Amino acid sequence: MTDFDGKTAIVTGASGGIGEAAAKRFAADGASVVVADLKVEEGEATVADIEDTDGEATFVETDVTDPADVGAMVDVAVDTYGGLDFAFNNAGIEGEREATADQPVDNFERVIGVNLKGVFLGMRAEIPVMLDDGGGAVVNTSSIAGRLGFPDISPYVASKWGVIGLTKTAALEYSGEGVRVNAVCPGVIDTPMVAQSREEDPESIDGAVAATPIGRIGEPEEIGDAAVWLCSEDASFVTGEAMTIDGGYTSQ
Ligand code: NAD
Repeated sequence: MTDFDGKTAIVTGASGGIGEAAAKRFAADGASVVVADLKVEEGEATVADIEDTDGEATFVETDVTDPADVGAMVDVAVDTYGGLDFAFNNAGIEGEREATADQPVDNFERVIGVNLKGVFLGMRAEIPVMLDDGGGAVVNTSSIAGRLGFPDISPYVASKWGVIGLTKTAALEYSGEGVRVNAVCPGVIDTPMVAQSREEDPESIDGAVAATPIGRIGEPEEIGDAAVWLCSEDASFVTGEAMTIDGGYTSQ
């Protein structure tokens, strides 16, 4: 356990899956957590779970593609908890599955909007507050799809490669001023996103699991815990890193 008493964290996409797991871990380690997501009921359930274990959290309905929403999300952290120490820019969507030439343009724009622009808008609003507070740590969610190509999800792949580029660039810009910036690159993780993919295209997920050397699908906590570690003092010399957590998938 890390001692995050008196610290504040924002987690986007925290109504379910990886974001929910990370929000709960931040809170268990003592941080006050801003739970940000489009899904209100599920986000409030994340907050209720945190409060049930004597943690501190606030839900903010946020569309990460909207600069005003993202600004308001950061304002809640500052106004409610007095600052911002950590941000996990994690909200994401997979989008429609089609080969590149068949991809609808609006799907490309939607996926890039949430997964890439959302991370950009998050860092743009979060980092100035961290700099004012004397430092902080940002973690952005990429994917093994930010390491490799995957058929039929070209917008998703492009967005996740882009997240690594944004992460490494911001790390160069701000690490000297006390803000570390890293990414996590999950493999196949048992979340609602994967459940939906399995419904749409069972073979793609089952094939990925079969190709995972560790022999199983990952749990959301295995990514959330890594994001929290990257924010901790134990990772004080880690910045600009895209940490792959994939059961060995990309090692083959
Ligand atoms: P999930 O669908 O369970 O959670 C994603 C959350 O993001 C949802 O609660 C959703 O409401 C929220 N969200 C979507 N669009 C949003 C928007 N515009 N504004 C605010 N919130 C929005 O999925 P997950 O698997 O937990 O995914 C979390 C992150 O991990 C995503 O970036 C995803 O691409 C990435 N990822 C997941 C896997 C996996 O196998 N599950 C693998 C690699 C990367």
